[in-house]
Amino acid sequence: MKEFFIEVISHEEKMIKFGELLGQTLFDYDHDEDLKAVLVFFDGDLGVGKTTICKGIIRAFGYDGVVTSPTYNLVESYNQGTIRAHHFDLYRLGSPEELEFIGIRDYFKRGDFCLIEWPDRGIGILPAPDLYLSIVAINEGREIKIESKTRVGELLLARLSSARENYLDL
Ligand code: ADP
Ligand code: MG
Repeated sequence: MKEFFIEVISHEEKMIKFGELLGQTLFDYDHDEDLKAVLVFFDGDLGVGKTTICKGIIRAFGYDGVVTSPTYNLVESYNQGTIRAHHFDLYRLGSPEELEFIGIRDYFKRGDFCLIEWPDRGIGILPAPDLYLSIVAINEGREIKIESKTRVGELLLARLSSARENYLDL
C-alpha cells in the first residue's frame, strides 16, 4: 500500500482544482465503518497555499460562497446537507490547551471532516490525522506531499491517487 505521493502544482487555479479532487475523495468516503471524524492536516509556511487547497475541498462539498481564512476565530464550519466540514487555522493559537476552551472535541464527531492548518500548534490535544499534507514553494509553484497516517488515510490516499491519475489537467 502506498504511503504517500507527491504532486507539483504551478498555479493557484490548479491548486484549487487539486483541492476539489481531494474534496471529492473525502466526500465519497463512507463514514459508516469509522467512529470518528476524518482529519486532514496542512503543514507549510505562511503563504504556501494551505487555505487555497481548503477552498477547493470546501467547494467540492457543494459550498459556493466565499471561503475565508479563519485566522481570527480559529475555526469556520460549513454545513452542506449531511456534510459538516470544519476549517481550522491554528496560527494564532497561544497554546494547545486553548483548544479545550473552544470545545474542540465537539468538532471531531463521526461524519465530520476537519481540515487543520498549522496543526503543530495543537500538538497534544489534536488527535492523529488521517492524511497529512506538507506543502513547500518550489520555483513559482508548490510541491505537495500527501501522506496517509491511518488505515482510513491509506484508503483515501489510494482513491485520491487514482482520481489524480485519471485527471490530467493539473
Ligand atoms: P496559506 O494558507 O498557506 O498561508 P494561501 O492559500 O493563503 O496560503 O496562499 C498564498 C498564496 O499562494 C496565494 O496568493 C495563492 O495565489 C498562491 N498560490 C497558492 N497555490 C499556488 C500554486 N500551486 N502555485 C503558485 N501560487 C500559488
Ligand atoms: Mg491559510
